[in-house]
Amino acid sequence: MNRERVINNFIEMVKIYSPSLNEKEYSEYLVKYLEKLGLEVYLDLGYKNYGGNAPTIFAKLKGNISGLGVTLAAHMDVVEPCSNINPIIDGDFIKTDETTTLGGDDKGGIAAILEVLESLIETTEKYEDIYVLLTPCEENGMLGAKNIDWSKVPNHMVPAKDVVVIDNSGRAGLIAHTAPSKYDFKITFKGKKAHAGIEPEKGINAIALAGISISNMNIGRIDNLTTSNLGTIHSEFPSNVVADLCVVTGEVRGHSLDSILETLNSYENACKISIDKLGGEYFFEKTCIFPTLKPTDNLVFAKEFAKVYESMGISTELQVIGGGSDSNIFAEKGYNSIIIGVGMESVHTVNEKLDTRELFKTIDVLKKYIIKI
Ligand SMILES: [Zn+2]
Repeated sequence: MNRERVINNFIEMVKIYSPSLNEKEYSEYLVKYLEKLGLEVYLDLGYKNYGGNAPTIFAKLKGNISGLGVTLAAHMDVVEPCSNINPIIDGDFIKTDETTTLGGDDKGGIAAILEVLESLIETTEKYEDIYVLLTPCEENGMLGAKNIDWSKVPNHMVPAKDVVVIDNSGRAGLIAHTAPSKYDFKITFKGKKAHAGIEPEKGINAIALAGISISNMNIGRIDNLTTSNLGTIHSEFPSNVVADLCVVTGEVRGHSLDSILETLNSYENACKISIDKLGGEYFFEKTCIFPTLKPTDNLVFAKEFAKVYESMGISTELQVIGGGSDSNIFAEKGYNSIIIGVGMESVHTVNEKLDTRELFKTIDVLKKYIIKI
């Protein structure tokens, strides 16, 4: 590995402004880089569906032996504030001047991928096809991954099913393999307006409908696989008007789809109870924000990868995480992802930093894994 090249690439990349929905310049930089290395590139234009401006980049480094290959994935967008990032090298760390995020999330992952490609091209070792998948808009509801038009991806560019996503916070050796699904719900209660002082009995109070419904909902920890929360409750009327509209939003997340749907059903039943009591109407909307991430191979891939870390003296931790990422979206298409740590710390804050020792270890482990398969 050329450590100087890794650091230079990382510093150059974080200086390119690439917030969610506006990764165009950075994606062009990456396409140029990958093509210069001789990779074949395919661009998915899913951003046209959601008002972004950068494609999902599919790239392929042809291997010199046959096999299923492996996919390396990361995301291109960075959480704001991320304009005019001024990276500072401080010993083993790269940090910011504390006015912006660093973008180590996930340009640390991309720096690792680029160096793995560089060193594979320079090596005489044997390796299978390497697929690269770089998405825009991961931080904004995984819009990039969600909007990939898989039907248009040329057959020979369809990535290998085993995916290493280099986007876990924390040290090298952390391997996340399971993450929950999340559903958002929105309940609109409709009552009936009336003068609150003159004829309140002619009205149906939507705020009261919401209140009764919520009091009959089990909120918080549902079971060991499922949690729920209320996010907002909104209604605003003068106090002399019986409110005829109240909107409640919340989420249910968990590792079992059955349990999530059961919970949502119980919430809808709670709404029915309040309507039976006071009248009025309710509209219950549920939206899957992301599906679950689960290993498709009983952890064989994750454990194989863990072995490579351990052969390098790096302790591993197989993790079940609480949030969603691109991997959840890929999982719906049958992809088997692990999300590995690359040394990013305090992500999504102006104190974000990257531990370059962990970045170098990540590059080494990826190379070892790839050369081994
Ligand atoms: Zn990330």
